Parts: sequence; C-alpha cells; structure tokens
Amino acid sequence: MELDTELFIRVGAALCVFLVLALWEVFAPRRAMVIGRARRWPANLGIVVLDALLVRLLIPVAAVGVAVIAAQRGWGLLNITPWPMWLEVLLGFLVLDLVIYAQHFAFHKVPVLWRLHRMHHADLDIDVSTGLRFHPIEIVLSMLIKIAVVVLIGVPAIAVIAFEVALNATSMFNHSNAAMPKWLDRIVRLLMVTPDMHRVHHSVLRHETDSNFGFNLPWWDRLFGTYRPQPQAGHDRMTIGLPIFRDPQELRLDRLITQPFRNDAPAAATSLETETEQAGPR
Ligand SMILES: [Zn+2]
Ligand SMILES: [Zn+2]
Repeated sequence: MELDTELFIRVGAALCVFLVLALWEVFAPRRAMVIGRARRWPANLGIVVLDALLVRLLIPVAAVGVAVIAAQRGWGLLNITPWPMWLEVLLGFLVLDLVIYAQHFAFHKVPVLWRLHRMHHADLDIDVSTGLRFHPIEIVLSMLIKIAVVVLIGVPAIAVIAFEVALNATSMFNHSNAAMPKWLDRIVRLLMVTPDMHRVHHSVLRHETDSNFGFNLPWWDRLFGTYRPQPQAGHDRMTIGLPIFRDPQELRLDRLITQPFRNDAPAAATSLETETEQAGPR
C-alpha cells in the first residue's frame, strides 16, 4: 500500500469518528462541562496539528513504513515464523496494545516522563478533544517506541494500520463526553475502554489518575491490577484535571507546550485534593 493511501485512511477515519463523537456529545452529553469547548478546543485541536507536523518532520518513515521494510528484509520475530497471516496480525495488534499500556504506565511512574504526559491530564474538562491532546515530545517518543516494537516483533503492516486507526478512534471515544446507558457501558467495557472507564483516569485524585491505563483493550488493567471501575465521587461530581495547572489560562496552546518545564501552584493543589478526598464516596 502507498504511504499516501495509508495517510488518507488514517486522517479520513479520524475525522469521521471525531465528527460523530462531537455530535453525540452535543445531543447526549454525559456530564455538565465546567469550562466548555470554546476555551479548550482551539488549543486542544491546535496541538493535534502541531503533533502531526512534528512527527512528519522528525520521523521520515512512519511505523507502517517501517513494517513494510521489516517484512522485506525479514526483521523481527513474526517475519521468521511460518505462522498464518491472520495469527500474525492478531498477535501484532495485541503486542502493540500491550506496549502502549506499558508505555502509559511508565509515563505516570517515571518523573521526567510524567512531566510530558501530565499535559494530557491538565485539561479541566474531558471530551473528544482531550483524546487528541498530547504533548509533541510524548507523541514523538511514542512513535519511536512503536517503531522499535514493529522492528523487534515484525508486526505486519496491515496490523500496524489497523492498530493506528483503532487507537486513534478509541482514544477519541473513551475521552468523549458521550452519554451511554449503564447496561451498554457494562457490555462494551468487556471489549474496549469506555468513556466511564477512562474518565476515572482523569480524576484529580492521584490514586484514580494512576488507574485504568488502557486506551484500547480493557484487559491489561484487569490483568495487572490497575483497574478501577468507577470514580469515588461519582461521574457527575468528580473533579477533572490535576492539582496543578487549575488556572483556565493553562488551557492556551502556548501554556500547554511549556507545561512540562514549569511547576505551578502546588499550594492550591493540596487544598483541592483534600477537599475532594473529604467529599468521600457517593
Ligand atoms: Zn495518563
Ligand atoms: Zn486520557
């Protein structure tokens, strides 16, 4: 497949999913927004454009291009095994998803990586645009990790495309403020991460932030003991964001970019955390 076709599929699919979810949020919102779209979307969408440009600029061959080269040269585990294609695609997809889970966990636990990733968490509301809001350096690191996995494992190109499209779509879906009946959430949650499941991860309470690391498949959290079904304060009353960067000024594009290099307002943070902890389960 031509790389242009791959880009077309990915961007086209992302735009469709974004539009559907944005409309869903407008007509059936899950919870009331604190800040709303007008103040958040310019920067959240601006960072997506920046991320895309930077990755294209810094990494000439995307993960799928690397998969094609690896297959031609016989690099990676799956390129030297005689297994059927469907099995290799399935295994490749699963390995990529597990690595993204592990990477997300590491971005929470390693202080220098957390500085990059916390920008994603500093959004004061959570909706479809939050699912695209990642620091450019995190995006570049993530792409390099994916490329390393593709080379080591020999993930087939078709699995890489499927994974990129799925990850992008599920990330927008599980960040969305789209209302879903409880019974449907329970069923969907068995197969993929739902908005109610990922929202727990955006709680201001650290023990909730450090749970539900999955983006795509929900099984890794259950397997590795990081699964937390619901937020302690309930979905309507929980506080979204981080104890630092509570000022709505922090939702500007320039502030998003400089957040990893700053340490703001830790005092306000502590009082908010205590206040929310005391609110207790509901
Ligand atoms: Zn996170
Ligand atoms: Zn998130």
